Amino acid sequence: MRIIYASGMRLLRSTDLALRVLMRLAVAGEANPTTREVAADMEVPYTHAAKVVAELQHLGLVAARRGRGGGLALTGAGREASVGFVVRAFEGDGDVVDCEGNAPCPLNSACRLRGALRRAQEAFYASLDPLTVADMVAAPTGPLLLGITSRV
Ligand code: SF4
Repeated sequence: MRIIYASGMRLLRSTDLALRVLMRLAVAGEANPTTREVAADMEVPYTHAAKVVAELQHLGLVAARRGRGGGLALTGAGREASVGFVVRAFEGDGDVVDCEGNAPCPLNSACRLRGALRRAQEAFYASLDPLTVADMVAAPTGPLLLGITSRV
């Protein structure tokens, strides 16, 4: 039995970084920062940011323009994306607890706790569904982001 989340609904680092990248781009205007600039602003390794940006592009939330003056920009879908959608996309839809791993739990076939945890997980996501990336950069977060960005 393997506990997937060590502490409640703790998110993967990549999930949180994906949301930070989207928020950073939401205040970028026409500036189109590069992945390297976003990584520096968010104080994370470039390689980690690049993987997250690639996944955000795959999801259609971020577009990258190459060449001089190029960089990253939110797509319309990215600006309107719900926080719940992004968290689900990065976390996957696995259970909070892996009941059937290498050493399956003996309660697996008739466990009320498993259903309760699944409902709690869904409630967690549902609470994030009404929130958009644009909502997340309202004051005070947006002005703070603008204050720490290398290029606006
Ligand atoms: S079956 Fe129930 S008790 Fe066993 S690991 Fe899953 S949630 Fe926990």
